[in-house]
Amino acid sequence: MPNMPEAKNHSLTDGNEPCFCGSGRKMRLCHKTASPDSRAAHVVRLYRDVEQTIGDYRATSPKQPPCREGCSNCCSDYFPVSQVEFELLLVYMERHWSKDEIAEAFDRAEENLLLLEKENPDMHASLTHNIDRKGELDAVRRHAGRNSFPCPLLDRENGRCRVYSARPFLCRTHGSSHTFYGGWRERLQPGQVCEYIDGGRSHRKITPNIADYWPLYEELADVRVGKERRLLRQYPIFYWLVLYGRHGGGKTTELGNRDNFDLPLAEHNARMAAHGSSAN
Ligand code: SF4
Ligand code: SF4
Ligand SMILES: [Zn+2]
Repeated sequence: MPNMPEAKNHSLTDGNEPCFCGSGRKMRLCHKTASPDSRAAHVVRLYRDVEQTIGDYRATSPKQPPCREGCSNCCSDYFPVSQVEFELLLVYMERHWSKDEIAEAFDRAEENLLLLEKENPDMHASLTHNIDRKGELDAVRRHAGRNSFPCPLLDRENGRCRVYSARPFLCRTHGSSHTFYGGWRERLQPGQVCEYIDGGRSHRKITPNIADYWPLYEELADVRVGKERRLLRQYPIFYWLVLYGRHGGGKTTELGNRDNFDLPLAEHNARMAAHGSSAN
């Protein structure tokens, strides 16, 4: 795996690091059944490492992106996240939100789905149909844009993310970093990051390159079976809420099963491979 972040940055611990739920307690004293080698624990370490890279850049570079607290326009963009990242959001909400607030987010997500159907029927169709990850990525490339509604986890009053310390990888890196592998095609990439940031070279000049983190992110978002990586379907946060609300624990943060958290990664991969990699 080329460009893998340094092993030392991502080393396993014996559970003495802070728990992924945001309690501030050591993992072995908090979520006691969770393996420090679980998918969720790896994702949280990846979050920490990429934050460190972005933080170091912010502390030392005179050229900065305009992203700031309360700027949340990009929280209305259509973008998918992995299942384990979504479950980390539920764990955070369970600890920090009231039951009513949680139920309200599920309600809002159902409203979001209806709105998407009206305003972006192509995106809605690919979201709700049984397509594979490649088909999903293709649909995102062709149809994704800015929704008329923000993420249901955004505080609309003040534009702040209500799950900030547990927010997914893309939320952490969009705007505040870039991914550049150096290919000539990428150099020609047009488009904007958002209405305040031009894409391509302009973005690269004001942000750190986090290309090295992507292989690990993809490893954790998907399933590794021997040398093969099986791509898992991803969904926008609102649609994960819809799916879990309808087919999981209702309008609650109940997870059903905790494989993403409790099982060591290799064991989890093997189990998902045996089940056809559909879901955990
Ligand atoms: S990417 Fe753009 S919209 Fe998002 S926080 Fe940064 S400046 Fe604001
Ligand atoms: S999780 Fe937070 S940062 Fe990410 S889209 Fe939702 S509100 Fe915005
Ligand atoms: Zn915990």
